[in-house]
Amino acid sequence: MPNGQPPLPRNWQKFPVGNITRIKREQRRMRGALAKVRAWLREEFDKIPRRQVTANAAGITVNAYEYLIDLPDLQRIIEELSRRLGDLPADRLADAVEAAYRQGTGDMNVALAAITDDYTRELTQILQSDPWQRRIALVRARVFEEMRGFEGDTARDLGRVLSQAVQDGLNPMDVKRTISQRFGVSMSRAERISRTEITQSYRRARLDEDRDARERLGIKTGLLWLSGFLPDTRPSHAALHGEVVTEDFVREFYAEGANAINCVCSQVPVLLDDDGSVATPGIVDRVRQAKPQTGESPLVNTNACQCGH
Ligand SMILES: [Zn+2]
Repeated sequence: MPNGQPPLPRNWQKFPVGNITRIKREQRRMRGALAKVRAWLREEFDKIPRRQVTANAAGITVNAYEYLIDLPDLQRIIEELSRRLGDLPADRLADAVEAAYRQGTGDMNVALAAITDDYTRELTQILQSDPWQRRIALVRARVFEEMRGFEGDTARDLGRVLSQAVQDGLNPMDVKRTISQRFGVSMSRAERISRTEITQSYRRARLDEDRDARERLGIKTGLLWLSGFLPDTRPSHAALHGEVVTEDFVREFYAEGANAINCVCSQVPVLLDDDGSVATPGIVDRVRQAKPQTGESPLVNTNACQCGH
């Protein structure tokens, strides 16, 4: 029997969007895959025969390096690099993002059933329905597109580093340092993609089911905003904590700028009366009371989330 109160996420005062284990697993996987490519590239670079040359320019002695590799061989390394980056586990990330979408649908299904008797949708039927399957296909396609862009950028960037090193006869130690730095940047980006795609997919599933409940069953809900209070939580996100907003508002919010990136906010449905007021104001009060006062230390210890945000 519904009691009118939606269940709050387990970690709602810290990381409302949840999915922490899933995010960490995918981030670890991406990092590991990139580390393998990095090791391979450093090795390939080391294999290029080189000799140190000393030049005298205007009385100043300059140490430079001559790399004894011809262009086709260099090109071959860069192409292999591109191929290896193309083998990053995009399909695994797509699986994780799909699982997050499925969980979002399931959690919303439970929440809507908890707030009203009128919500009669069975989860198994939703998951087998054509609209749901189409959404999943779109969600997966988006991940592959993101990853293709990422792989292309990374391959181009590192290819440039390598070409420049050979052309300009750069110090091999410096080149290897640069390679590591660029991989570091790429790892952060891959982590950000993993995290953002998983959390967005989870949130999108909830919004989609909220919309279906309204359009198919005429259930009037508002969405109660839960913000995380991590040290880097954006004030514009924290300001929404405890507010009851519409589904359109949430979609527009995330379509704007970088709002979706590294966001840990989540939204839970609350039933609205005919006049549009919240039928169960108790839960809204409870959430609002958890809002930390300005100047207080954050609720969460930063070690709880090492997602690189
Ligand atoms: Zn947020």
